[in-house]
Amino acid sequence: MTDRTRIAIPNKGRLSEPAVDLLRKAGLVFEVSSRALSVPARNMPVEVLFVRADDIPELVHDDAAQFGITGLDLVAESSFDTAIVSELGFGRCRLTAAVDESSPVTSIEDFAGLRVATSHPVTVSRFFAGKGIEITTVPLRGSVEVAPKLDIADAIVDLVSSGSTMMINGLRPVATVLESVAALIARRDAPSSPLTTMVRAVVAARRKRYVLMNAPAEAIEEIERIIPGADSPTVVPLTHNGMYAVHSVVDADEMWKVLPDLESAGASAILVLPIEQMIP
Ligand code: AMP
Repeated sequence: MTDRTRIAIPNKGRLSEPAVDLLRKAGLVFEVSSRALSVPARNMPVEVLFVRADDIPELVHDDAAQFGITGLDLVAESSFDTAIVSELGFGRCRLTAAVDESSPVTSIEDFAGLRVATSHPVTVSRFFAGKGIEITTVPLRGSVEVAPKLDIADAIVDLVSSGSTMMINGLRPVATVLESVAALIARRDAPSSPLTTMVRAVVAARRKRYVLMNAPAEAIEEIERIIPGADSPTVVPLTHNGMYAVHSVVDADEMWKVLPDLESAGASAILVLPIEQMIP
């Protein structure tokens, strides 16, 4: 038994690189090797396990790892009860029900009696059962989108992000079964760990920017209205010219409309900086 906290992350696939990047930004120093299943962090009593994304809910549930990073779709599919500590903002996708372009199906009710190919049979069965619609699931590990062409299914439920793969394969989306995003998960009774605070601090910071500017006294009120910050902006007098330095934190998504407004309000020498970590 090790006294290190274990965190399980995907060893391959779409979530693997962003998970490594997140842990490193959170301050964890560790090597990634294609051969090692687990590596100790150099600067914290944490061990990083590299495993299949779909095994992570079970490993966390069984306490083989106290924390894990995986997709919410895989948490739903696994049926192992774990706590969602924090959504992580990457790996956004949805489980979409779709049919061949030529199909007469237009609504989810029209799926009654159909064979539905999917990589997420548990979630799909639950979804249709919840609506009282009887279907037959055809579980497939991959290449779900070719199932209607091969006539092994009449419809599919598959993961999409942009939807372009479905379009290329001649499929028409009908409904969303589940929205998913990567998440930090934990055992229900896991004790709190500095790791969760660190990861949340990076995720919160990614959505924010630190903005600094100079402004004359008469512009401060308007600037405060544009960028109110968490409590209020920091306003510090400059040594000369009766000018002030204004600092605030702004949503990254809002920057495009905030910057022109600040300029019109009289701000100059505006700087926009990334924030590494933030504990609101
Ligand atoms: P994969 O990389 O195909 O092994 O998928 C691993 C996980 O990445 C999935 O279970 C989803 O949580 C997530 N994911 C994010 N975007 C997509 C996408 N466009 N297609 C499939 N999976 C995705």
